[in-house]
Amino acid sequence: MKPQTRVLGYPRIGENRELKKALEAYWAGAVKQGNLLQTAARLRAQAWQKQNAAGVDLIPSNDFSLYDHVLDTICMTGAVPERFGFTGDSVDIDLYFTLARGVPPASAAGRIAETSALKMTKWLNTNYHYLAPEFTADQTFSLCSSKPIDELKQALALGIQTIPVLLGPVSFLLLGKSVDPFDPLTLLDRLLPVYETVLAKLRDAGAEQVQIDEPALALDLTAEQRAAFTPACRRLAEAGPALLLTAYFEGYRDNLETVLNLPVQSVHLDATSAADELDVLLDRLPDDKSLSLGVVDGRNIWKNNYAASQRLIRRAINRLGADRVILSSSCSLLHSPVTLTSETELDDEVKNWLAFADQKLHELADLARFQTREHPETDPAWQANAAAVSSRRTSPRIHVEAVRKRCAAAAPEDTRRKSPFSSRIQIQQERLRFPAFPTTTIGSFPQTTEIRRARAQFRKGELSRENYDQFLKKEIRRVIKEQEALGLDCLVHGEPERNDMVEYFGQQLEGFIFTRNGWVQSYGSRCVKPPIIFGDVSRPAPMTVSWAVFAQSLTDRPVKGMLTGPVTILQWSFVRDDRPRSETMKQIAFAIRDETIELEAAGIQVIQIDEPALREGLPLRRAARKHYLGQAVESFKISTCGVEDRTQIHTHMCYSEFNGIIETIAALDADVLSVEASRSNMDLLDVFARFNYPNQIGPGIWDIHSPRVPGVEEMVALLRKAAAVIPAQNLWVNPDCGLKTRGWPETLAALKNMVEAAGELRAEI
Ligand code: GLN
Ligand code: ZN
Repeated sequence: MKPQTRVLGYPRIGENRELKKALEAYWAGAVKQGNLLQTAARLRAQAWQKQNAAGVDLIPSNDFSLYDHVLDTICMTGAVPERFGFTGDSVDIDLYFTLARGVPPASAAGRIAETSALKMTKWLNTNYHYLAPEFTADQTFSLCSSKPIDELKQALALGIQTIPVLLGPVSFLLLGKSVDPFDPLTLLDRLLPVYETVLAKLRDAGAEQVQIDEPALALDLTAEQRAAFTPACRRLAEAGPALLLTAYFEGYRDNLETVLNLPVQSVHLDATSAADELDVLLDRLPDDKSLSLGVVDGRNIWKNNYAASQRLIRRAINRLGADRVILSSSCSLLHSPVTLTSETELDDEVKNWLAFADQKLHELADLARFQTREHPETDPAWQANAAAVSSRRTSPRIHVEAVRKRCAAAAPEDTRRKSPFSSRIQIQQERLRFPAFPTTTIGSFPQTTEIRRARAQFRKGELSRENYDQFLKKEIRRVIKEQEALGLDCLVHGEPERNDMVEYFGQQLEGFIFTRNGWVQSYGSRCVKPPIIFGDVSRPAPMTVSWAVFAQSLTDRPVKGMLTGPVTILQWSFVRDDRPRSETMKQIAFAIRDETIELEAAGIQVIQIDEPALREGLPLRRAARKHYLGQAVESFKISTCGVEDRTQIHTHMCYSEFNGIIETIAALDADVLSVEASRSNMDLLDVFARFNYPNQIGPGIWDIHSPRVPGVEEMVALLRKAAAVIPAQNLWVNPDCGLKTRGWPETLAALKNMVEAAGELRAEI
C-alpha cells in the first residue's frame, strides 16, 4: 500500500515574486484592492494545482498569507491592540496592512491613522519574521476573519480537498509579546471559543482534517506551559474535524509524553532536525495515531537522498504499517525558493544537486511510490537520485583537501590574540591616539540611487569595470571628506561597492553559488535570495583590501577595514548538509582571517568584523546553546586573532538583547564592540550593570531605522545613561547600525549632532 504524502505549507510569494509586486503596487495606490485579491487567489490556486498535479495527498490551505500567518491569527481572533482603534467585527484588509506596517495603504490614508506597527520577530530559528501579537491581561478575543473558511471553499470550488492550517492556540499565546508582565496562558480560556467556532465552521464547510501547528512543542517549556496543551487540544478535537498536530525544527524531547497523549489523529516529526526521536515515537505512538514523517527538508535546497530517506521510511512502515505513515515535508516549504525551473543560468552540475519547493513535491511522490515496489532501486527516479547524490559526494569542486587540512589543524593559538586586551589597548592607543569618547560609524553610508544605478549598469555590462571603479572611488572620496569635515575619529570607506554584506563576500569566495530567482520570504513583501554554500570555502584573492587601502590613502585618520564575520555569512546562506555546519563556519573563518592579515599588512590599523546574526543562530533548545556559542566564538576568533596587538578589532551586532549571551560576547574578545541601543532607550545597560564588560563598547545613540534626526541633548542623555554603568574610558560614540538606508541630509545632520554630543561629554572629563 502506498503511504499518503503531505506538505505542511507552500511558498506564498509566487514563482516571480508576484505577491511582492502586487502588495507594493497596492500599498502605493497604483492598483485597486480587487487587483491584489485576484493575484492572491491566483497564487493560491496555482499552489494547490501544482501540489495536486504532483500527487500530494494532503494539501494545505490557509497557509497562504497576504503578509504573515501570525498576523492572520491575530486578525482571526480579533486581538488587535487598542491603539489601532478597531471596533468592528471583522478586520479589513487595510487595517490588516496597517497592523503590519504602521502606515495604511494609500487608498486608506485619512480613513486609518498611522500608528506604530506590531513588532516583528524571527520565526523560531529561521530568517522568516512574524508579527508578534501584543496581549494585555484584560485581552478579549472574538472571531474577526473568515479567511480559513474562505480559502477552504476556494479550493473546494476548484475541486481540491485541502487541510486548513491553523497556528495552535497555545503557541499563538506563547509567541506573543505581552505589554505588561503576566502569564499569557491565563488568556487561553478566553481564546479557545474562537478556535472552536472556526473549527466548527471549517467542518461545516467540508474540512475533514485540520493541521494544528504548535511549534512551541519543540521548545523548552515550563510544566505549566506544557500542561496547557492537553485541555486546549481536547476542546479543539471536540469542536471540529480531526487534528493533525505539527511542530518542527526540533524534536519533542521532554514534551513527548504530552504529545503522545493529545487527542489528535497524527503527530508530525521533523526527521531532518530530530531523526533520533523516530525510534521512541515508533515505540510509543498510540494505535489510534499515525505518524507524519518529515523526510523532505522544507528549509534547505538540497535534493533529498532517497536511499537515506528510504531507511527511515521503512523503519516507520515496518512498525506502523503504510496506512499509519504519512510522508511529509519537514516543515512548511515557505522557507524554500519556489522552483528550479527558472534557474536557467545555474551551473548544471550544482543544479542537479538541488530541489526547491516544486521539486520537493515530486520527491514526496517518488518516495511514496517506492513503498509499493519490491525493488525501488530499479525505479528510474531512484536511479537518477542516486546518481545526483553520488555526483555531489564525489565532486572535486566540493572537496578541497588543503581547506580541510587547514581547518583540521586549527590550533588553540589560532584563537588567541598575542596579548590580553589590557596590554593591546595601550599599544593601539599609542598608535591611534583616539580622544575620549571616540566617534565612528558602523560602515555603510547612504546607498543613493546613483550608487544603485551604477551597480545595475555594471552588472548588465553597460558600465565598464574601469568606469565603475572610478565611480566607486569618487563615492569613497566623498565619504572620507564628509567624515573629516564632521570631525569623526575613526573613519569608514562607506561600502559603496557592496549590495549586500553576505553576497559581496560570497561572490568572491570559492564554494558559493548564486541563484537568479531563489527568493524566500523574509517578511511581508520582503524577500531574500540567500547564497548557496555547496563546497569547501576558500578565498582565492583579497576581497576588500584595495578599497580599504584607497580610502586610507585619502586621510591621516584611521580608516576601518570592514568585513562580515563567519557566523553571519553562514547564518544568511543555504548551507551544505553533507558536512557539519561548524566545519563550514570554520572554513569561512579562515578565509576572513587571511583577509584581516592582509589588511593589516597593507597598513589598515582598525578592522571591523560584523556579526549581526550571532544571536539568530542560537538553537531552540537551551541544552544545545552552549555548544553553538562555543563554535561561534571559536570561528569569530579564528577570523580575528591572526593580527598583531597593534591592530584594533571592532565588531558590530544589530540588537540589544544580550541577556544570556553577554559572557559569549565578552569571550569574542573584540577590542571594540558596537551595538544597537537607542531604540530601546539603552535597555541593554541592565546587562552591563550586572556584568563587567571588559573591553570597549559603543552603544548606538542614533536610531538609523527612522529618518528622524535626534538632537544633541537627546544623544548626550543617552551617553550619560551609558556612562553611568560603563567606564567612560571604554565608551565609544556611534549610531545603532550602518547608514545604507538613510539619505545624505539626515545622515550629515545626525552625525554632526553625534560629534557634538561626544564633544560635550569629553569636555566634562
Ligand atoms: N557594516 C555594515 C553596514 O554598516 C553592518 C550592517 C549590519 O550590521 N547589518 O551596513
Ligand atoms: Zn547593524
